[in-house]
Amino acid sequence: MADPARTPPDSALRIGLVLPDILGTYSDAGNAQVLRCRTQWRGIAATVTEIRHGETVPSSLDLYLLGGGEDDAQALAVNHLRAHPGLQQAVARGAAVFGVCAGFQILGTQFTTSDGATHTGLGLLDAGTTPGRRRAVGEVVVDVAAELGTEPLTGFENHLGRSRLGIGSRPLGPVRAGTGNGDGTEGALTGRVLGTYLHGPVLARNPALADLLLGWSLGAPPAALPLPEIGALRQERLRAAKRGPRR
Ligand code: GLN
Repeated sequence: MADPARTPPDSALRIGLVLPDILGTYSDAGNAQVLRCRTQWRGIAATVTEIRHGETVPSSLDLYLLGGGEDDAQALAVNHLRAHPGLQQAVARGAAVFGVCAGFQILGTQFTTSDGATHTGLGLLDAGTTPGRRRAVGEVVVDVAAELGTEPLTGFENHLGRSRLGIGSRPLGPVRAGTGNGDGTEGALTGRVLGTYLHGPVLARNPALADLLLGWSLGAPPAALPLPEIGALRQERLRAAKRGPRR
């Protein structure tokens, strides 16, 4: 019989951390902890299921997270997710997905790695990625579109890829500092699938973005959760960002 203490209630928010063994540079796995804590602090149960390479991807979760990774890990990850399409099935029934850097590129239509190989993505975002002339490394500030919130996003980027969006996705907003997609915009959004180049973990640095994702998954925007120390961290990182977009 299942141990009741270990069985999540039916109403629990089910978070999937996708391939943390191969995707998850710069502590991107921390995004799962942030979402779990912010849900539990509001008195709502939340579970985090780690889906490792070689394992079937469940289609039953509410919110899936993918982190960054080097090119080889990224190719391994996309092959696994195409062979085990639980994530794509979950999106078809309304689940939310949040991908960072390599995770963002995997969610797109295709990406070309630095060895020149082109890989088919999951096609959940209308974004294709090709290598740029130089790596984009440093702090990023993004002025997000109004429907995504009012606070600018802050994060750290380290990627070679440059992403072009098609008409099926829209960017999160223009970059105030940093490179992002490489055309003056950052990230991509289609329905409840969101990709970004920002590490941090980005949801620790941007609680409004964490709550946007939670609102999608819980069905309503969650109650306010004032945490002044996060405000101080945000101000410090906003000051640290060099102004002006880098291409
Ligand atoms: N390999 C990809 C790139 O360089 C993603 C890098 C990352 O996830 N940090 O564009």
